[in-house]
Amino acid sequence: MSEAPILKDTTRSSGREALQKNIQAAMALSEAIRSTLGPKGLDKLLIDDEGRTLVTNDGVTVLETAKVEHPVAKMMINASSTQDRIAKDGTTSTVILAGELLQNAWQLILQGIHPSTIARGYRKSEQYILECLPQIILESDEEIRKNVVKTSLAGKGYNSMQEVIASVSLEAVKMVAETNHSVDVSKIKLISQTGGKVEDSRVFRGLMLPKKRISSEMEKELVNGKILLVDGGLEKKNVSTDLKLNVTSVGILESFRQEERKLLFEQVDKMIEHGVTVFACRESIDDDVKNYLTKVGIQAFRRVSRSDLNMLARVCGARLVNSIQASSKNDVGDYNISKNVTIDGKDFWVVEGNGRAATIVAKGSTVDIVGEVERCFDDSLGVSVQLVEDGMVVCGGGASYVALARRLRRYAETIPGREQLAIEAYADAIEVIVRVLAENAGIDPISTLLDVVAEQTNTDSDQIGIDLTTGKPENMVKLGILEPQGIIKQALVGATEVAISILRIDDVLWAKQEMAIPDLPEDDM
Ligand code: ADP
Ligand code: MG
Repeated sequence: MSEAPILKDTTRSSGREALQKNIQAAMALSEAIRSTLGPKGLDKLLIDDEGRTLVTNDGVTVLETAKVEHPVAKMMINASSTQDRIAKDGTTSTVILAGELLQNAWQLILQGIHPSTIARGYRKSEQYILECLPQIILESDEEIRKNVVKTSLAGKGYNSMQEVIASVSLEAVKMVAETNHSVDVSKIKLISQTGGKVEDSRVFRGLMLPKKRISSEMEKELVNGKILLVDGGLEKKNVSTDLKLNVTSVGILESFRQEERKLLFEQVDKMIEHGVTVFACRESIDDDVKNYLTKVGIQAFRRVSRSDLNMLARVCGARLVNSIQASSKNDVGDYNISKNVTIDGKDFWVVEGNGRAATIVAKGSTVDIVGEVERCFDDSLGVSVQLVEDGMVVCGGGASYVALARRLRRYAETIPGREQLAIEAYADAIEVIVRVLAENAGIDPISTLLDVVAEQTNTDSDQIGIDLTTGKPENMVKLGILEPQGIIKQALVGATEVAISILRIDDVLWAKQEMAIPDLPEDDM
């Protein structure tokens, strides 16, 4: 049968050839970021189209910045981005796990095992692992939680920097946590400041914006009052663009301007009517009303971004309105404190209301450092949220993966047929984390893995992982190398998902030309 006309300009690869190419692409990607895993992982220098540079150790940042075109590589990047969204960490691990699952699958395919048998075996493995996970979970206390956040920053920055970022993140998350422990991380604002040391980064209760009231004659600090937020301005109309006037005498223009001023003042009167004492808007505030606002005791802020106005609205229970004229009493919110403070020579506006909020001021000596500090906060806040919401942790340093692999091998023995081989391949694959952690620390990966497995078996402990400073197996609880269970769980689920999806593709249709496969280190396949 001839090909349908729709496929005329299409390059097609199918069956084993398609699978091989796809697996190659996926593995090339995981090879590319392998060297960044763990505390001894190296950094990548990224350069974009415009020559801007970024030094980072963060898997998802590397992948999202790289211009990868291969559709399968994109699937891997999506898995990493999903991991970032759901668990905020473990992005490199997810891609490495998926790469290894696919490599092991390819070895089985070469032995004549069908991809769908492997997919079934992988799915069974995933389910079994999720059942086993509660057996290796530990409950956390304050000290453990701090260690968990520090572990998530492994390889980023130095010890005292990790220490500060960990405590600041946990404190911020606790400030916004509801009584049922649920956390909305968007209630935490992160502002970065160049100058000063990373260790000077701090968290403040409430919302803090790098803003000053429009006149220093306005009240500096107000308590318990009403706030109005406007997604517009308090300005005169621009005569030249908005209106066409036929000016026939000097008096007309002047009376027009007076009318305009009157309208401005009326808007302020409307605020007074609502009992408003703090006013903030996205656009400008006309100089003509500045004195009037000061006189009537309104503290005013202009050019506040829409996202900041939205945050203010949530903190104060206000509704963002389009104009003052259109506002009603119901749109007005309540603040507990609205004050201007100066920190290290910079002006800030601090607002506290009944809605929870926290602001982190992240510091660093250069723009590059502040950028990396911000990304660290991103990660550590995500991890802190999981800890405050759930609090369940597992051992890092590859210990949990080995513990799960040991259980999986015992389980494999109970599964008849070829799926058993797939389950064993899955168990081998998840041990990759220990191997790569060792590899990146310049330690022999195979003997390290064997040592860790032997030590877990001999001591019947799930807590033995790799101590990268000595290269020896060690108890991870003792070393404080711990992770939220959600990270490992999501990394395994995400990696399995993408590996199975790739195994299921047996036909690839490319419009016009064949996509380039990213470079793969030689003699890998
Ligand atoms: P990911 O993007 O997957 O989070 P990371 O580069 O952050 O990658 O590395 C995380 C891995 O490093 C985890 O498996 C974690 O347990 C491990 N790890 C972190 N700190 C240490 C340490 N001090 N010793 C051994 N393993 C560590
Ligand atoms: Mg990490």
